[in-house]
Amino acid sequence: MLSFVIPAYNEEKNVEAIYSRIKALMQEIKEPFEIIFINDGSTDNTVEKLKNLAQNDNSIKIISLTRNFGHQSALTAGLKLAKGDATISMDCDLQDPPEVIHEMYQKWKEGFDIVYARRLNYRKDHFFKKIGSKIYYRILNKFSFVDMPRNVGDFRLIDKSVLYEINNMPEHSRYLRGMVAWTGFSHTYVDYYRPDRVEGESAYSLSKLARLGMDGMFNFSVLPLRLGFYLGLITIFFGIGLLLYQIGDVIINGVYYHLYKWLIVVLFIFMGFMFMLMWIIGEYIWRIFNEVRSRPIYIIKEKINFEE
Ligand code: UDP
Ligand code: MG
Repeated sequence: MLSFVIPAYNEEKNVEAIYSRIKALMQEIKEPFEIIFINDGSTDNTVEKLKNLAQNDNSIKIISLTRNFGHQSALTAGLKLAKGDATISMDCDLQDPPEVIHEMYQKWKEGFDIVYARRLNYRKDHFFKKIGSKIYYRILNKFSFVDMPRNVGDFRLIDKSVLYEINNMPEHSRYLRGMVAWTGFSHTYVDYYRPDRVEGESAYSLSKLARLGMDGMFNFSVLPLRLGFYLGLITIFFGIGLLLYQIGDVIINGVYYHLYKWLIVVLFIFMGFMFMLMWIIGEYIWRIFNEVRSRPIYIIKEKINFEE
């Protein structure tokens, strides 16, 4: 069985269209399926529209959250309840064309556990969103300890073994694309052109996007942590260099340095040590953070010659 997990926030104009397109797709794929819609506190008629659809088709399932919890939380709610052998998460606004799933499904059948839909363009996206996302992913990838897929959103197919691991991660700040990559299962990509949103407005305000970006940065990269280390290193080296220069100047040229000039150099070096100290504290915090979010320590892919 295939599960579709679709968060919907004020998508009254899109739910019917996405339903009929998935339906058409599944007539070709010919597998049983369920479509889980998560109503993330919509203030329009999204729920009514969904209930209408669900009346005539019990493959449609609806989860309604009490208020707007945000895209990643809504996705989490849906993933918890998905029963499929493979689960497809996608947006409700038809920016993730259901037709792409055909190829994703094939890749899954070939044996890949994770199939990302990778977008080839950001056509009409905001200029800042375009540039911002380029820079963001570059930095994230450079300093991340998992191989973060690029140009990939939350449109993906995951096998139920991956879903099991995701559902077992109790962490609260959920950056799902990072968490999926972190599990390390075999993955591949299907490329597609991301169309513009058909109806309604993007619910991802700049602040929501920024928050998502921060979750990715702070949960999956060590850049913020290492900053203190690098700053400290640079400052200490610079300070020592300055000190050596002054000493050399005194010995070779007999120049007189006023006391405050020596003090400045010493202060500089000590400032470097302060940065270092902050980095050490950061390392402790990172360790506490890792204990608290209690991810599994490893994930086993297969065991051979073990009794059950
Ligand atoms: N969404 C949600 N809760 C929110 C914001 C968005 O469930 O608080 C859903 C929305 O209905 C859509 C998906 O998340 O299905 C992606 O949102 P959107 O299209 O606004 O993001 P964009 O494509 O602009 O990044
Ligand atoms: Mg969208």
